Amino acid sequence: MRVGCPKEIKNHEYRVGLTPGAVREYVTHGHSVLVETGAGLGIGATDADYRAAGATIAASAEAVFSGSDMVVKVKEPQPHEWVQLREGQILYTYLHLAPDPAQTEGLLASGVSAIAYETVTDARGGLPLLAPMSEVAGRLSIQAAATALEKAHGGRGILLGGVPGVAPAKVTIIGGGVVGKEAAKMAIGLGADVTILDRSIQRLRDLDDLFAGRVHTRYSTLAAIEAEVFSADAVIGAVLIPGASAPKLVTRAMLAGMKKGAVLVDVAIDQGGCFETSHATTHAEPTFEVDGIVHYCVANMPGAVPVTSTHALNNATLPFGLALADHGLDALSRDPHLMRGLNVHRGQVTNRAVADSLGRDM
Ligand code: NAD
Repeated sequence: MRVGCPKEIKNHEYRVGLTPGAVREYVTHGHSVLVETGAGLGIGATDADYRAAGATIAASAEAVFSGSDMVVKVKEPQPHEWVQLREGQILYTYLHLAPDPAQTEGLLASGVSAIAYETVTDARGGLPLLAPMSEVAGRLSIQAAATALEKAHGGRGILLGGVPGVAPAKVTIIGGGVVGKEAAKMAIGLGADVTILDRSIQRLRDLDDLFAGRVHTRYSTLAAIEAEVFSADAVIGAVLIPGASAPKLVTRAMLAGMKKGAVLVDVAIDQGGCFETSHATTHAEPTFEVDGIVHYCVANMPGAVPVTSTHALNNATLPFGLALADHGLDALSRDPHLMRGLNVHRGQVTNRAVADSLGRDM
């Protein structure tokens, strides 16, 4: 198969779909790999590194899109990328279609078979291609909260860990999945007072065992969310209903009950956000303020640490990518977990949660 990897074009997105190490694996499986010139510079991988791994370097994204049977990316395609996709081609990348009807229309019109990393499953009910980026975003969310809490960045001027004789900041994490757990590790490490809310009692049990008294856990009801958000210095929004738009758990009215200069970090912004007042921001301008509350809503947080993120992502995407390259779309019928990744195929939405979120037929 001809596998293609264009350079990412979203604001401050330095990750790349294929590392030179991944290219070498595809080539060893007998495939040809076309990489756009400069695609790996954000992780320090030069065209020469890709050539040494067996890739051919393409002068433009257009050459990659037109010369590939499968396009491997990181972020969802942008409007002038949709129009370069075609029927019979596989797109293998993050898509996050539920809150994005425009992109969905673009992919449907192209006829491409689009596999979304974030809906591929594993035998334990997890999301193996979302997990590594969730680990990165979860850990980063506390760095983002700590920075935004600084006075110069609009925050209330509180240090997460406090100091001897001064109480630490209170961090509330809504959603105790992969993002929530990694956020909790970092927040505890910095000495914050951490509470995690989740709808899954089993999840809360597991977290309680893992953190052995170093976090508070609370079942996520409206009343519990309200109480925890009102007393928090930083709130991390880390919920997920796979494939669906995030539920709005913190309303605008609730901001009035919060401490002025408190920080909301909406990690779930890529699924539309779990705070009513969120809108997606970029690394160039990551925060904005609503009613005295600082919002950090960067939709591609792992892009801030592309070296770590690209290697973590490639570790997870490579086995499925090789299966697609080796078997084409037959790889989907051979693996029900990969089949769950298929979101759009020849003009049809093929993922139930995505279709329901967008009010479309399957
Ligand atoms: P996950 O499935 O591991 O965890 C989600 C958790 O949310 C689950 O434990 C679930 O029980 C819980 N939940 C669902 N509804 C809830 C509610 N009403 N109240 C409390 N908890 C609730 O998912 P994850 O991998 O941790 O991802 C979380 C979010 O972060 C997703 O939206 C994901 O797309 C997003 N994400 C964003 C970025 C970014 O750059 N912004 C990067 C990675 C992941």
